[in-house]
Amino acid sequence: MEAQCVEDLKAAIREISDWPKKGILFYDVTTLLKKSDCFEQTVEALTYPFRGMGIDLVLGIEARGFIFAPPVAYALKAGFVPVRKPGKLPAAKLQVEYELEYGTDSLEIHQDAIVPGQRILIVDDLIATGGTAGAVAGLVEKMGATVVGLDFVVELTFLKGRDKLQKYNVHSLLKY
Ligand code: AMP
Repeated sequence: MEAQCVEDLKAAIREISDWPKKGILFYDVTTLLKKSDCFEQTVEALTYPFRGMGIDLVLGIEARGFIFAPPVAYALKAGFVPVRKPGKLPAAKLQVEYELEYGTDSLEIHQDAIVPGQRILIVDDLIATGGTAGAVAGLVEKMGATVVGLDFVVELTFLKGRDKLQKYNVHSLLKY
């Protein structure tokens, strides 16, 4: 993406200190989403590297991954699969647990959402420590599918999430 475009998108994201708790600088993408040109550029830039890569499914991680993954899936002519917080999915599901700064969290996917051999792109709004995306990638592999890429709008490079995900193709638009 052009440097000017990166700067424009960065300027469109609202940064909120000490939310949801003290010491966190929260990157609020709602201010980017409401600008039609910024939203379009973001979806296009997320999609671009994965065109022609034979993506079958785009997985979105609840909740903000649900905003970006569906338009990327549509643009790639792929399907969309939601990866949800526990207790939300109605049919038989698989769960993955992952470490947080304090304690653990978990995510779920329908057992029949992915067929072995499918080519998967995982999308979320932001990569911080990489714990969330890494857990989802591991789950995809356990289901016998291939993780073609991990795709984020924002990357907090100082948290070195990418180091944890070295075996994957990690793509992000806006690095901080
Ligand atoms: P991590 O597992 O540490 O990479 O955290 C990534 C997940 O937490 C993503 O689903 C993000 O939406 C959310 N997240 C973590 N840190 C922030 C932040 N500073 N601003 C906005 N969202 C964040």
